[in-house]
Amino acid sequence: MIEMKNVHKVYDNGVTALSGISTKIEAGEFVYVVGQSGAGKSSFIKLMYHEEVPTDGKVNINHIDIGKMKKRQVPYLRRNIGVIYQDFKLLPKLTAYENVAFALEVIEENPRKIRRRVMDVLDKVGLKHKARFIPAQLSGGEQQRVAIARAIVNNPKIVIADEPTGNLDPDTSWEIMRIFEEVNDTGTTLIMATHSREIVNSIRKRVIAMENGQIVRDEHRGEYGYED
Ligand code: ADP
Ligand code: ADP
Repeated sequence: MIEMKNVHKVYDNGVTALSGISTKIEAGEFVYVVGQSGAGKSSFIKLMYHEEVPTDGKVNINHIDIGKMKKRQVPYLRRNIGVIYQDFKLLPKLTAYENVAFALEVIEENPRKIRRRVMDVLDKVGLKHKARFIPAQLSGGEQQRVAIARAIVNNPKIVIADEPTGNLDPDTSWEIMRIFEEVNDTGTTLIMATHSREIVNSIRKRVIAMENGQIVRDEHRGEYGYED
């Protein structure tokens, strides 16, 4: 479903972030992206949701070359991809409910259906009872769970997480991972950049390891495998 062919990314300042990335990720996979800071993990995943475009090479999603996608087509792509960040990126003045509802693509749905959908995903992440809270009233783990609810509210085919547990303590990180496993179990492709050796080595999944803008290892049920 996601295919990169000889992808290069050179930023405007001349920094080469990716040099010759080729890989395929099939529907329903769970993939960790590991590597030291600056290895190119963020650049690699940003290309998948058109946050960045490749300097050279192809990024195909379901055989569509998204590198060549027009700006007005990007919202349609994003509807099928949920993104989760290390720092949550919730809107601070909106409640948990509103942060999720805001992301819901409303296509002629009645308000009751919208409310049910939002409450269902908040329930899924265990936060139905805190729907009225604003981010400042929630713990980091709770904020990340709201962000996950926001990412999955449109039933995306792909969820991409960039160091989602980077700001969380270990217990909270395991809770987040349980939710990711549930999301993946329903068939959603999950791609997660991480620095957590513990998580990668205990919840075994495919591991793509990056170094200097290249994929240096790609293993089914792989290990974290390098020293930070
Ligand atoms: P990682 O996520 O593994 O830390 P990144 O993809 O963020 O790696 O970064 C890869 C390289 O690209 C680094 O040298 C970084 O400084 C550089 N880089 C990342 N984003 C930008 C940007 N917007 N402009 C210029 N250089 C960037
Ligand atoms: P229940 O599951 O008990 O029926 P509701 O669906 O009425 O609960 O709402 C549960 C929580 O969701 C409420 O406490 C409220 O904070 C929040 N909520 C529901 N609708 C909205 C809305 N439109 N805007 C903000 N918060 C809402």
